Parts: sequence; C-alpha cells; structure tokens
Amino acid sequence: MDNLKELKNEEIVNLIKEGKVGPADLTDSGICPTCFNRENGNVLYGDNTDKMIFENGKFECFLVGNPRADGHTAISTKKHFKDMMEIDDETCKEIFLLSKKLMNAIKEIYEAESVYLCTMCDGPMNHFHVQLIPRYSFEKRGSKNFVKPRFEFKEDKEKLELLRERMKQRIIRRGDFERV
Ligand SMILES: [Zn+2]
Repeated sequence: MDNLKELKNEEIVNLIKEGKVGPADLTDSGICPTCFNRENGNVLYGDNTDKMIFENGKFECFLVGNPRADGHTAISTKKHFKDMMEIDDETCKEIFLLSKKLMNAIKEIYEAESVYLCTMCDGPMNHFHVQLIPRYSFEKRGSKNFVKPRFEFKEDKEKLELLRERMKQRIIRRGDFERV
C-alpha cells in the first residue's frame, strides 16, 4: 500500500468503504485512525451513538465495541494527543475527574466489585484514551483483568440509560464540567 497521505480524503474514504484500507494502514501512513474516523463521518468504526455515555466539547465516554468485561468503557479526548505524557494539566485533571465519576457509576450500575483504569497508548499515531475495565466478584483481583479476552458487545439499554443519567446528574449538580 502506497503512503495514504499522498491521497485525497475522499480517496481514502472510498478505499475504506471498499474494504481495502483499515485502521492499521492509516497508522502506518502516519494518519490517526480515531481522528480520521471522527472527521469523516465514522467511516472506519461506524456510528457509536448507541454506545455513547457522555460527550462534551473535549471528551467522549463510550462503551467499548469489543469489551473485555461488561461495562468496559473508553474515555477519549476529541483533540489529538498521542498519549498521556502529551496532554496539558487541565485536560489531565478533567479526564481523571471524569474517570472517577464514571468508575463509581459503572461499579454501582453493573454491580462490579471494582473498576480498573489503564492507559497504554504507544506509537505516534495512537489517540490518547483511558480504559475503565470492571472486575466482577467471580473474577480474581489483579493485573490479568487488563487482558481478559475480548468479546462482542451486548447491548443493555437499561444500564446505558442509567449511566447516561448518572453522568448528567453528577455533572450538572456539581458543575465540574460547565467550562468544558
Ligand atoms: Zn487522533
């Protein structure tokens, strides 16, 4: 595959639609798949509004399409940062506050015993995000929870609505995110 950067956006979009180009090809060409997807009508990963928990000008929090546990959630910045080392202090503070709120909500709504947090963006074309992975009572504690096998997302509209409600309430009540 030639370097995709030499092509026009529409040409790349067409190659994706034809199944000839995937996320790894974009990464190899120095194009961030997450940003490309966002800027081109979700052509790469599809519409995920059915998984979106909370969204504002800076962040989106959504259930992962190939989760390692029920309630596995990702929080991503809208702006491109390649990893956590690159983000500004304000964004760092905000994403941790958001993570804390969401971890509490996931723990309660999914009845998890704990919720783990990890971020392991690596490489110039990763797009900074954190992952929240629930650990349930039937699972052992420990780092193996970060590499539990992935499975296909099962929709649970009731839990998703509860999560959405909780994030709305807390954010409005405390006013923590009025600026962002
Ligand atoms: Zn990006």
